[in-house]
Amino acid sequence: MAPLHSGWCAVLIAASIAWIPSRQSGQPPPRPLAPGVYAVVGDTGRGSEGRPNAGFILTDSGVVVIDALASPRQAENLVRTIRSVTDQPVKWVVLTHHHPDHHFGTAVFRRLGARVIAHPDRRVLASEAGEDALVADWVRVVGLDAMRGFEFADTPDRPVIGTDTLRLGGRTLVISHPGAAHSAGDLMVWLPAERVLFAGDLLIEDGVTMVVDGSSGALLEALASIEKLHPRTVVPGHGAIPKRPLTLVATTRAYILELRSAMRSAVERGVPMGRAMASLPPADETRPVSLNSRRRRNAVRVYVEEERSYMGLDSAE
Ligand SMILES: [Zn+2]
Repeated sequence: MAPLHSGWCAVLIAASIAWIPSRQSGQPPPRPLAPGVYAVVGDTGRGSEGRPNAGFILTDSGVVVIDALASPRQAENLVRTIRSVTDQPVKWVVLTHHHPDHHFGTAVFRRLGARVIAHPDRRVLASEAGEDALVADWVRVVGLDAMRGFEFADTPDRPVIGTDTLRLGGRTLVISHPGAAHSAGDLMVWLPAERVLFAGDLLIEDGVTMVVDGSSGALLEALASIEKLHPRTVVPGHGAIPKRPLTLVATTRAYILELRSAMRSAVERGVPMGRAMASLPPADETRPVSLNSRRRRNAVRVYVEEERSYMGLDSAE
């Protein structure tokens, strides 16, 4: 991607990360998905604009947390939510990826003695200007108070680049990298006995997963992997838990396939990107991860993918 004007930085962060802040505070009660398996649902009905979801799993030997949320304050709220059902120590935090809204609370869990499972590839578009700039911009997003006690804590103690099975206190969690679909460091967490999948931002309530830090091809492969699991319950990265998980997978796939087809057709007809995007509604200036804004950003990304593919440049990636 071409270097961006620094004034774009906050927009870039908000636009490449599937989250912008909600004025709401506090945390809803945990939602049981299976005995001892809980989702902590952020905001629903707001697509990527809602606070992210998290989860936690009780075992006979401690707790496993899925995602650490967007700030130390949010993580402290998550700890309180966990404490409302158990006094067991948190042993592991699994990060579904390295966007700040999913991991900027991790240090809180480390201080409680937890260790971190994550993909080692921490690269995200939003940190192109460096980690200090990323933090400074994120402070503007969530506020200084929420960030008190922040430090980077997402470098994994237990890196996962393929598939890793975590067995703890009678539970089995299969943690796998589905490819760089939403971001380079994507992981999903599968509980085979309970048939519950924590999908991170591979899935979003409205089916418009962002691929600006990943790729549409990898997302299609990730969706196929999710389908093969036949999950009973899927927890998306943002928004409501779908009643029919495979319907959300199908909706997401249909969106990506349609976008790819439209952009491929434009590339083949020599239509420049700007004109190819003309059929899409304009982005919402002040809402960089609104539905329209996400559609436009994904369209840019997919146009470039199709252009590279058409020109035979894929192997240079
Ligand atoms: Zn994300």
